[in-house]
Amino acid sequence: MRNFINRFSQFMVGRYGMDALGKFLNIVSIIMLVLALITRISVFYLLGLALIGYNYFRIFSRNINKRYAENLKYLTVRNKLKYNFDRLKIRLKPRQDAKTHKVFTCPSCKQRVRVPRGRGRIEIKCPKCGTKFVKKT
Ligand SMILES: [Zn+2]
Repeated sequence: MRNFINRFSQFMVGRYGMDALGKFLNIVSIIMLVLALITRISVFYLLGLALIGYNYFRIFSRNINKRYAENLKYLTVRNKLKYNFDRLKIRLKPRQDAKTHKVFTCPSCKQRVRVPRGRGRIEIKCPKCGTKFVKKT
């Protein structure tokens, strides 16, 4: 066993190994294989196998710079998605003051402006850019 581990680490010298993208590919390939089992749609099976193949290609790759760049690209996309998702979560969360106030978006600078409810149609002046717009409260 130790001999095997030694030989394996020898083999991995100069090779890229596992990264965040690799872990993501792992999860997606497992999901594909499970989907293939449940649905019996062979496309999922082929996709799963292809992803596993690609993952091992990356792990054993000697082109470390290129694999590193791929991982960075993946992390950038992932962070952007997470950022947008968090923002969406905040926007969809019911506000504490939803019953007493309304929030409008300034048509010119997209600044969000909070005004009290139940005042009828009022002219709102954007505190950021000074644009005036009429809204029903
Ligand atoms: Zn504005």
